[in-house]
Amino acid sequence: MPFLEVEHLTKIYGTGANQVKALDDVSFTVEKGQFVAIVGPSGSGKSTLMHLLGGVDRPTGGTVRLSGMDLASQPDETLAVFRRRQIGLVYQFYNLIPLLTVKENLLLPLLLDGRRPAPGQLEGIVEQLGIEGKLDAFPDQLSGGQQQRVSLGRALITRPALLLADEPTGNLDGANTAQVMELLRAIHRGTGQTILMITHDRELAQQAQRILVIGDGRLQRDEVIRP
Ligand code: ADP
Ligand code: ADP
Repeated sequence: MPFLEVEHLTKIYGTGANQVKALDDVSFTVEKGQFVAIVGPSGSGKSTLMHLLGGVDRPTGGTVRLSGMDLASQPDETLAVFRRRQIGLVYQFYNLIPLLTVKENLLLPLLLDGRRPAPGQLEGIVEQLGIEGKLDAFPDQLSGGQQQRVSLGRALITRPALLLADEPTGNLDGANTAQVMELLRAIHRGTGQTILMITHDRELAQQAQRILVIGDGRLQRDEVIRP
């Protein structure tokens, strides 16, 4: 059983004359531990795909199965719990909560689930992310690169089965982009974290193990570039 199985996935927004087919019969599978880049121009359906994979939105047709569970057939409440525990999300604009400190932002996903970090877990993440000394700061006191590293920590604190990153370096300069990419690769190497990273940047995509190219809502290419 593949870890992630996407079959005939279709998403249509709007109705009647305003219909937009954002995804059109997309199928692929991902093995546990793979680092996959999803590449395509703006408007090609990448964010839509991410929302469906993350159980944030529901497909018009087709299925997404994660560890054998069909996301679309779950009731909202089940899906919400599943998402909270199994999916880590990283966005282009960090989406940190401005009124919470870095530490509170990092721990929030556990808190919402009534859990605490394992002993040493927070310290481990803080060290790996290189944000020591920032735990009591607020997001707007951090640089973009630091904010994105916090958002990566927040996504990983629940030890999700799948890390979904939507243009994680899209708002960062070259140096910070390199740093965040290096972190993603280190996390992948270190824990075998399964990662799906959306990007419009073909060069960044080369850092993954496999590249899925999306165009006009369709899967156009599926290429393994390194083992
Ligand atoms: P990408 O992330 O590759 O830029 P999107 O998934 O955001 O692509 O968008 C794919 C297509 O679906 C685009 O034509 C976009 O305008 C359309 N679209 C995305 N979200 C919505 C929505 N909520 N309502 C209507 N159309 C949408
Ligand atoms: P990105 O590709 O960087 O995610 P988009 O502009 O495609 O940025 O989408 C930003 C948000 O707006 C998404 O939540 C998407 O669903 C929504 N969206 C995109 N296109 C449309 C549209 N034509 N109508 C309504 N909502 C849209």
